[in-house]
Amino acid sequence: MGTMESITERIIDALSQISEPQTGQPITLLKMIRDLKVEDKNIYFNIYIPGSDYPHKSALYELIHQVLGEKFEGMTPHVHFVNKSAYSDAPNLLLPQIGNFIAIASGKGGVGKSTVTANLAIALQSLGFKTGILDCDLYGPSMPTMLGIKGKKPEVREGGGQHKLVPIDAQGIPCISLGNIIEPEQAVVLRGPRLAAIIKQFFQDALWPPLDYLLIDLPPGTGDVQLTLVQTIPLTGVVMVTTPQEVAVIDAIKAANMFLMEQIAVPVLGVIENMSYFQPTDMPDRRYFLFGEGGGRRLVELTSSALLGKIPIIEKIRERADLGKVFAVSSDELYAEIYRSIAEKLNKRVAFRNTLMAPTKKVEQA
Ligand code: ADP
Repeated sequence: MGTMESITERIIDALSQISEPQTGQPITLLKMIRDLKVEDKNIYFNIYIPGSDYPHKSALYELIHQVLGEKFEGMTPHVHFVNKSAYSDAPNLLLPQIGNFIAIASGKGGVGKSTVTANLAIALQSLGFKTGILDCDLYGPSMPTMLGIKGKKPEVREGGGQHKLVPIDAQGIPCISLGNIIEPEQAVVLRGPRLAAIIKQFFQDALWPPLDYLLIDLPPGTGDVQLTLVQTIPLTGVVMVTTPQEVAVIDAIKAANMFLMEQIAVPVLGVIENMSYFQPTDMPDRRYFLFGEGGGRRLVELTSSALLGKIPIIEKIRERADLGKVFAVSSDELYAEIYRSIAEKLNKRVAFRNTLMAPTKKVEQA
């Protein structure tokens, strides 16, 4: 996705402060602002509106001109309306109620990808975004444990001869996890078509509520799950999780490269460095870099993305994950603040991505 010009960043930031009158949601989150280009003193972009009868067209036009006029004096906005729902244009016909599909990926296991997914979902929720989790990690059936929904089975609802999975509610975060559906011993041996069928079911036969973000926890590396995913839904982007070690980065870049392949073309939204350092509570001025340093930065360079944040090694993170108490985090704790900042940055990156790049296309099966 490349590093953005700061003027472009600032314009998207300003636009993301504007709410769509009907829904109250930021216009960038709704993917209404597209194809933004800045040339000299000119700002060009398209506004996607649901149809020619959209009642807030002129209000929106005025609001946008007012905001840009105040903040970017001397620049001229050139706005073009497109009578097409932003969602119907983003070829997400399968689950139009889900705004952004974010895959959480890593090169190898044990870097804390699932823990990051759970805590990031909680942070996004605390910022007011409707967030869900789809756990497709075959190897680490930890999500149900972490979220305190271990052993629960998703309800299956029948209607019109079809069976639909109802995501399990984890304190307001709807969740579907392989771990609630299949025994761990069975999950790890799933391959090929059977695995693909299950993953597809999680989208095609599930009753997801409207969501701003669906976080998808992937197995480490590249494999059948990743492939099925890009063939089933248009991923908004991928977030890479790595530890600071060089070896973790080497594996992570391989995983990232799969998404960046021309035929797949899913952008890397950012990198989260986990287990960055250890800071003893009795000696808060000391930092121990147990897993080395610089891995996150390195991966940012290799993927030309952005560092979303660094998470230290914190006993409470591990403890709460083990005990199914991830929701017990209080907003003034250090790691809650770090996660909130990561969630804010991610939200910005998604706004940039949706404003500057065309929607991802689902990969057609050969
Ligand atoms: P992955 O999904 O990458 O395989 P997990 O999320 O299962 O990794 O994490 C591996 C282990 O590390 C878990 O026991 C988890 O609680 C712990 N862990 C993850 N991140 C942190 C952290 N920042 N501080 C302390 N423990 C962590």
